Formats: sequence, structure tokens, C-alpha cells
Amino acid sequence: MLYLSTRNNKISKKPSEAVLEGIAKDGGLYMPKSFENASFPMDDLSKMSNKDISAEVISILFAGDEMISDEKGEAAGAYKLVSNAYDGKFENEDYAPLSKVGNAYVMELYHGPTCAFKDVALQLLPQLISAAKKSTGMKDEIVILTATSGDTGSAALSGFSNVDGVKIIVFYPRNGISAVQERQMVSVDGKNTCVCSVGGNFDDAQSGVKNIFANLKLPEGVVLSSANSINIGRLAPQVAYYFKAYRDLMQNGEIKMGDKVNFVVPTGNFGDILAGYFAKKMGLPVGQLVCASNTNNVLTDFFENGVYNKNRSFFITKSPSMDILISSNLERLLYLVCGAEKCSEYMKDLKEKGEYKLSKEELEIIRKEFDAGFCDDKETLETVASVYNKHGYLMDTHTAVAWNVYEKWARKCDNGYKTVVLSTASPYKFSSSVMNALGQKYESEFDAVNKLYEYTGAKIPASLVNIERKPIVHKVTVEKDEMMDFVDKMVNKKVWMD
Ligand SMILES: *Cc1c(COP(=O)(O)O)cnc(C)c1O
Repeated sequence: MLYLSTRNNKISKKPSEAVLEGIAKDGGLYMPKSFENASFPMDDLSKMSNKDISAEVISILFAGDEMISDEKGEAAGAYKLVSNAYDGKFENEDYAPLSKVGNAYVMELYHGPTCAFKDVALQLLPQLISAAKKSTGMKDEIVILTATSGDTGSAALSGFSNVDGVKIIVFYPRNGISAVQERQMVSVDGKNTCVCSVGGNFDDAQSGVKNIFANLKLPEGVVLSSANSINIGRLAPQVAYYFKAYRDLMQNGEIKMGDKVNFVVPTGNFGDILAGYFAKKMGLPVGQLVCASNTNNVLTDFFENGVYNKNRSFFITKSPSMDILISSNLERLLYLVCGAEKCSEYMKDLKEKGEYKLSKEELEIIRKEFDAGFCDDKETLETVASVYNKHGYLMDTHTAVAWNVYEKWARKCDNGYKTVVLSTASPYKFSSSVMNALGQKYESEFDAVNKLYEYTGAKIPASLVNIERKPIVHKVTVEKDEMMDFVDKMVNKKVWMD
């Protein structure tokens, strides 16, 4: 499989190169040259294990690259990478259990080390980067540089901690994340990890990181890379759980091979839902993909009228991991619909005017595959409470956005297919919001975890039990104009921790 830039078809790379580069030189994102030879063997699906499915997806999307090959071939190599990534990392053998709630199914993707769905991708990405480094003979040290509003940072730290040949620096806004999220990060003790708070908000941290990528002069033998979902190595692992959900529904006797299934996805950067579209392109019988947003509903408007307009107010919501105005991965969908030339023009419009507009025909093509909806914070909290009271099922605020959108969508356009709602975070990761939704009292974020347990009896994820007692390893803090100097110092320092 070859990968092309979404902005220029002449830029073509091997999968390992695309994984190492993250983003193409022209600012485009890497896409498979074609899905023609990328069919998943649906006839074998019912017999496949979870790891078989993940390895198969990786073998298809990265076919022909030594990165996934070992002495026994690509299938065996891919399986080994998947095993290294996932064995012993998730709470259960079933890393993404389905729960029936009302007429739909909730797929819980949050049973990994940091309790959000990003673990599924960020446990495997480091294995892919490490393998790509080996197979391409790259000698440089890779430093992953990331700004986070919470979930990405902890998942990336967990995935990259103590992986050979890679170091990771995470910046987070000093007062912009929850106490639980902060402690998850500053307690990671991998020798190759560095976590630093920044005086400012998430945008300040993000701008600082972009500035470092563009302007920092690196020492010989060091390159910077990103753990952001623009990396194809982060997108590919997510395709697998759509196939897995389908297999589970078949095994439960809910569907027969060939029946279509809808997926409702709580969306921010458009990575998770795009993985579902990849699954469809690879032969999974998918009905509608429903894009669920919070008050930052730029995507809802886009799917409604074909205009993407980022010139609007930004809201901090109760589903903070979806607070985003530029959904980077949407560029990959545009590319599939309009081709590189058009895609590149739209991205230029977005940069210069903050807006682009699809043609009527393009919008029609997209609307055949995608529906969209949004809900505000009040509806989100009401949904947490109503699903708990009605079905006895506890969900976090991000999942509640998707559930709320699912209910509105099903009333309007139910197509009769089974529907899976993706659950992206543990309710314990956002305990205080969940407690507020349930009308319960607590003293602090950490206290909310325990009180939520007392109230609901739902199992606390192992990694969050007594989280407030985990030792703080990282204590550095900088002002936003000091970030560059800080990274400069770190990339020149050989050993970070003893
Ligand atoms: C990142 C995140 C999302 C959004 O996923 P995208 O791939 O960016 O669309 C949704 N929910 C949670 C809990 C997340 O951490």
C-alpha cells in the first residue's frame, strides 16, 4: 500500500515513512492510495479473535512494508506488534465490550490504561513507530511533542513510556485540566517521559508546540514528531473495533452476515468516526455514520449545509475532549470525495478565510454516508441522568453527547438497522460532571471518584483507584514564552531520568 498526501498526489510514501513523518511536507495528511485491494476477509470474521482482527487491519493498511514484517512474514509480524501493544494492558480480555442499552448497543472503548478510547490507538502507535524506525534504518532519536487538553497526553505517555528510541514531552495548561487527568500524567515514571505545565490555556500550549515545530533548531540526530490523530499510525488501529463490534453482534445473534449496522460517534478531531468510514471502505456493512458534537457544533453545520466555518465562538463544555473548532481528519474525507486538488483549495480557504464551501454534488455524496447532530451541556447532563435512571447504565459526558444525538436521530431517521454508540471515556474519568448530573455532592475531584462509587457501585478502573496517592514525578512548569527554551534544553539532554 502506498500513501499519498491529501493535497498533492505526487507525494507518495511507504507506510513506514508516513508513520514516521506524521504529516506530509505540504501540510497534507497521508491517505491510502486506494481501497481497491484493501478488502477485509469478511467470511473469516466470525472465527477471528480480537487480536486477529487488529492484526488483519494493520496487515491490509500497511501491506508490503517491512515495518510489519518479521521472519515469518507480514501477518505474523503484525500480530506480534498488536500483542506487544495490547497484552495485559486492558482490564478485560474483551478490550471493547458491547452493552445493550435500550434498543442500541454501547461499545465501551475505555478499559485501557488511561480510561479513554485513545488508548486503543496510542498503545499501538509507539510499536508502529519503533518498528518503522528499525525497518527504515533510521538512527535519529524521535522526540514526540504534544500539547494536550487531557486525554491525549495521558494516553500518549502511557503508550510511549519506556519505548526504545523515542522520547516524549507533554505540555498541558496549568489550570485547564481536571485533577484526575493531571495526576494521571504527572505520575508517569517512564525514563523517556517529560511532562510540563504551561501558564495559559490549551490554545497557548498548542500554539507554543506549533511554534516549536516550525522554529526550533534541533541538534544533529534528533527529530520531532507528534502523537496527534493526524498520524495514519494512530488512525489505523481504530478501524479494528468497528469490525470487532460487528463480529460481536453476529455472535450474539443480533445480526446476520451482510446486515448493515449504524455507528454513532462522539466526535472532536474526526479521527474516530473516520476510522469507521475506513472500515466501510474495507467492506464492513455500515449503514449510517452519525457524527455527534457538543456546543462546538461546527461539524453539525458542515454536514447540514456543506459550509465549514471556524469563525465562531469557542465553548468550554462538559465534554472537553470534543471541544475543537478545526477537525483535522475531516480533510481525509474531503480528499476521498473531491480529490487532492480540490481538497488543497478548501484547506487554503480554511486557512485564509476560516471557511470553505462544498459543491451541492459533493455534499450529497457525503450525506449518503454521514448524518450529524449535537447537544448542549444541559442536555448532556440530563442524558447521563436519564440513561442511568431508566436503564441503570452509567456513562460519561462524551458518551452522553453521542447517546443524546442517537436518540434524536433515531426518532427522525431510523433505518431499521442495529445501532452501536461508541463510548469513549470511563464515567470515572469525568466523575465530578457525572456526579453533578446525578445530583450528588462531593468535595473535590478525587472525592467525586469515591462518592460516585458509593452511589452507583460501578467498578472503579484499577488505574484510578487511589489515584490521589500516586507519587508526583513531574513538577516542572513554564510560562508560555519559555516553552521553546525548555524543549531546546530537553532535546540536548541525553538522560532525562535515572
Ligand atoms: C478524543 C476524544 C473524543 C474525540 O475523538 P476524535 O477522534 O478526536 O473525534 C471523544 N471522546 C473522548 C473521551 C476523547 O478523549
